[in-house]
Amino acid sequence: MAEKITMGADGVLSVPPKPIIPFIEGDGTGVDIWPAARLVLDAAAAKHGATISWKEVLAGEKAFRETGSWLPDDTVEAFKDHLIGIKGPLTTPVGGGIRSLNVALRQLLDLYVCLRPVRWFAGVPSPVRRPELVDMVIFRENTEDVYAGYEVEAGTPGAEQLAEYLRDQMGWPIRDGSGIGIKPISEMGSKRLIRAAINYALDHDRRSVTLVHKGNIQKFTEGAFRSWGYELVTEEFADRAVGWEDCDGEPGDRLLVKDTIADITLQQVLTRPVDFDVIATTNLNGDYLSDALAAQVGGIGIAPGANINYVTGHGVFEATHGTAPKYAGQDKVNPGSVLLSGVLMFEHLGWTDAAADIVKALEATIADKIVTYDFARLMEGATEVKCSEFASAIVDRL
Ligand code: NAP
Repeated sequence: MAEKITMGADGVLSVPPKPIIPFIEGDGTGVDIWPAARLVLDAAAAKHGATISWKEVLAGEKAFRETGSWLPDDTVEAFKDHLIGIKGPLTTPVGGGIRSLNVALRQLLDLYVCLRPVRWFAGVPSPVRRPELVDMVIFRENTEDVYAGYEVEAGTPGAEQLAEYLRDQMGWPIRDGSGIGIKPISEMGSKRLIRAAINYALDHDRRSVTLVHKGNIQKFTEGAFRSWGYELVTEEFADRAVGWEDCDGEPGDRLLVKDTIADITLQQVLTRPVDFDVIATTNLNGDYLSDALAAQVGGIGIAPGANINYVTGHGVFEATHGTAPKYAGQDKVNPGSVLLSGVLMFEHLGWTDAAADIVKALEATIADKIVTYDFARLMEGATEVKCSEFASAIVDRL
């Protein structure tokens, strides 16, 4: 019987053998990549005696066509009620009431962690010489920072009033004609994100957590993020983790927590990737870093992502690329991003064997040089296949 996933009193998800999982197909290429990914996910689950009872919920263009709403309440309720869901890419409505459907979902469910594992799969074309050295997991704060959306447009009464207040009350020489944005970073928001990163690192036997920030310039937001991170280590993890300054970089058998400035980080993830393992960072830094790292290991066609609230148990796993409208409905693009997001979801549910099987089958398919157009154009001697054929090839190798 199909049942809901629930959150136990111990804060651990309880996953029945036939869980009901809501999915949003997605706009544009969603019609291609979602069925392809689902084929592989179902086959891998079946191999381990599990079945997913998929429940379609609407968002984006399909929802707007059928209900007149870009993000119907029923969809948000389904994600709230079933805890775990997965989605394809969604169009950002231009001129609509919603800034971004993805951001709206994250805010409505308070999904404070944006989780982006970045690793290389053998054979995937990469612009760097040693892509195999990249194995990082980014924890990007998902609810604060400039993404909170507090901005006023230059020349509007709001901007003029705010500038006047800042000049008069704070002594800040804001220029006439400035747009102004506010960057809130809180202790609670920073600590819950860093706590999730440290717990993940401990659970997955990772070596270090690096706090990435721009605290040399933005002392009370980015700098505070760093300080709160180290404070958390001593407050809650003293027996299992240690800050760099408290151990001179020699953590013994504890997890090392260190920090780097965001700009140098973008250089060092390229020049010395082995120094980075789990990364915890603020929202905007995390945005830049996730895309830069995805490029290092083969691009957005295969970069998975998840948005998680570890306290309530809510998680939305998603393709990290957009709807690529020029390819929509052509059965052409790479389903890897949404498929690997499904793998991340399986791992989160504790279905680690099925997840590992998919990764092995994907690697075997790429090793046989059976790939979609995005990889084929960068590989010598590749057989270019359609999106659905790529999925079938993975299933054949499960
Ligand atoms: P995009 O849809 O991500 O596409 C940009 C390029 O990325 C494509 O032209 C293609 O490159 C490559 N690409 C995307 N998906 C791919 C896949 N599955 N396999 C291989 N290559 C892939 O970005 P966009 O054109 O800027 O955005 C289009 C729409 O998506 C917008 O409405 C935007 O707001 C929305 N969006 C949604 C999300 C989300 O739902 N999470 C994220 C980003 C953007 P080539 O042209 O080189 O082949």
